[in-house]
Amino acid sequence: MATKDKDILEPSLEILGIAPYKPKKTEEYMSSKMQDHFRDILMALRQRLLEGGDKIVTHMKEDAVNYADPNDRASQEEDFRLELRARDRERKLLKKIEESLELVRERDYGYCEVCGVEIGLRRLEARPTATLCIDCKTLDEIKEKQQKQEEEF
Ligand SMILES: [Zn+2]
Repeated sequence: MATKDKDILEPSLEILGIAPYKPKKTEEYMSSKMQDHFRDILMALRQRLLEGGDKIVTHMKEDAVNYADPNDRASQEEDFRLELRARDRERKLLKKIEESLELVRERDYGYCEVCGVEIGLRRLEARPTATLCIDCKTLDEIKEKQQKQEEEF
């Protein structure tokens, strides 16, 4: 289940059937060819997500039978809960994919939304919906942790 989730939510380029981009030496960052490359990745990701979503719904319908054994029912409910959570994550990711595609259309894709630096080819290939550079992302996570700690006290 965990592996399947990851494959749907964060599939590698290999799973998507897309070769890593090899920029030419003189090629500028986010050339139109590079933008096409990321549009392809985002569309493949969306396609995969939509197909995966259908599978989960079908699976839930098929499983919606009455179980006489309460233990079966409990594990069944747990499965449903996990599936609903997976669906929620998928929906959020889909929204991020749409936003990233919009950025590609506006030629703003690939730059950190906080400091404006290039997010980088390899980082984007690993995480095509990233909108922060690695520094801002790290800072963001530290702030988030601090906030959580403050809330706990
Ligand atoms: Zn940044």
